[in-house]
Amino acid sequence: IPYTFKDISLLDNRSFIAGQWVTSSTLETFPVYDPEDNEKVCDVADLGRDDTRKAVVAAQEAFKTFKNTSHRERRWLMRRWADMIKENKEDLAAICTLELGKPFSESLVTVKYGTDFLDWFEGAIERQYGETIPAAKSENRIFTIRQPQGVVAAITPWNSPIAMVTRKVGAAIAAGNTVVCKPAPETSLCAIAVAKLFERAGGPPGVFNIVTSSVKKAAEVGQELTSNPFVRHLSFTGSTAVGRFLHAECAKSFKKTSMELGGNAPFIVFGDAKIDRAVEGLISSKFRSSGQTCVCANRIFIHSSIIEIFASVLQKRLGETFRYGSVWDKNVNFGPLYSNKALEKIHAQIKDALEKGGKILGGGKEPSENDGPNFFPPTIITGAKTSMLFMEQETFGPLAFLVPFDTDEEVIALANDTDVGLAAYFYTENISRVWKVSEALETGMVGVRVGLISACEQPFGGIKNSGTGREGGREALDEYTEVKSITVGV
Ligand code: ADP
Repeated sequence: IPYTFKDISLLDNRSFIAGQWVTSSTLETFPVYDPEDNEKVCDVADLGRDDTRKAVVAAQEAFKTFKNTSHRERRWLMRRWADMIKENKEDLAAICTLELGKPFSESLVTVKYGTDFLDWFEGAIERQYGETIPAAKSENRIFTIRQPQGVVAAITPWNSPIAMVTRKVGAAIAAGNTVVCKPAPETSLCAIAVAKLFERAGGPPGVFNIVTSSVKKAAEVGQELTSNPFVRHLSFTGSTAVGRFLHAECAKSFKKTSMELGGNAPFIVFGDAKIDRAVEGLISSKFRSSGQTCVCANRIFIHSSIIEIFASVLQKRLGETFRYGSVWDKNVNFGPLYSNKALEKIHAQIKDALEKGGKILGGGKEPSENDGPNFFPPTIITGAKTSMLFMEQETFGPLAFLVPFDTDEEVIALANDTDVGLAAYFYTENISRVWKVSEALETGMVGVRVGLISACEQPFGGIKNSGTGREGGREALDEYTEVKSITVGV
């Protein structure tokens, strides 16, 4: 690759249990591929159920002392860890580019987003306040404290591989818990590097454990994490189908869960919107990371009075915004999809749309021979109908289906006509509509006249089948603590 690592030791293929870098006890491995050319990057330790149990036991052991650390100690740990990630941001971005095919410039953004969470949690640690409660009995005094839960299991996805680890693991550790993290097989190397920096920052053994596993072994790792009584909380980001299964398994032993699952974000442009501004918002929401985030716009509703002009401005701006080529070129800002599986889904949605009368308007780029095996250019589909596949199935790729609408009532009903509710976006210049529509949309997050809504200071999460719990924001550490009420007789 055209990149020289400053610290090549960050690139490791082992798991991390009880402060030790380990291979699988069965010596099994699985391959990680570079999505830019489908070449193998390396083999990674493939751990199963027994190794997972060892990691949970290590985390439980570490919890016995870690739960008693002062918030000052944890705060310094968070500070050093964040600083180390910042110092090594280019190497981390390179690992992300290598295993996910993200353009290097975008990988740097995801590393920054990942560190933002650690900065935020560091500040939040000292603000874990309790309450004093006026007691009904005059001889009693009641107050509350927040305590860590114990071992937290974190199962993370591939699409934002640094931030998804720090957002879960960072919050859990900041609150005084210990963690077993199972990263997505596609992006194990990123999670390993983040754990290496935790170790170097002075993170005690067993506080942050990494169990890498293949797609094949994910289920047995999941079985251990959902059934082991030491695990008190499962934090998962991924598909609704897997999340539903894990949530149900956790219910058997009343583990708390944080479930950040799929979305199907509506993006509404009302007739009074500023078209240029809405187009810019759509480009960031729909096409960033090649459309591979759970908050990407998926169902795009444009008022019928402006849909034609909107489509042509969008097409023009796509051509001006994205630059293509090697993902290592710092000017390139649009990369391939993470796998062939993603490409197949896109082709299926296009075929379905064309059969139902949709038309391909194209995007910013004509296909060329230099495009790698998993590349798909930004593409607009006009004449989209609500009977098409994309309405019920997250595209997770750079395809924008434009659907016309006429009235506010109609579009709000369409936007809410889905079993998921993560993010929604809309553009209007009318203040009354800002309030009415924000309140009417059935999602955990709404972007009004913005296309990018993810930030460490904001509670991130969904409703309906998009899951439970919030990550980031003031809620971040609450998610990983229990409230204890203490009644004192005076
Ligand atoms: P995606 O389709 O985006 O990969 P998944 O929900 O399949 O989403 O994967 C998200 C995370 O969940 C990954 O780390 C994956 O390995 C893990 N995973 C998938 N199936 C299971 C399972 N049965 N038990 C535990 N983890 C799982």
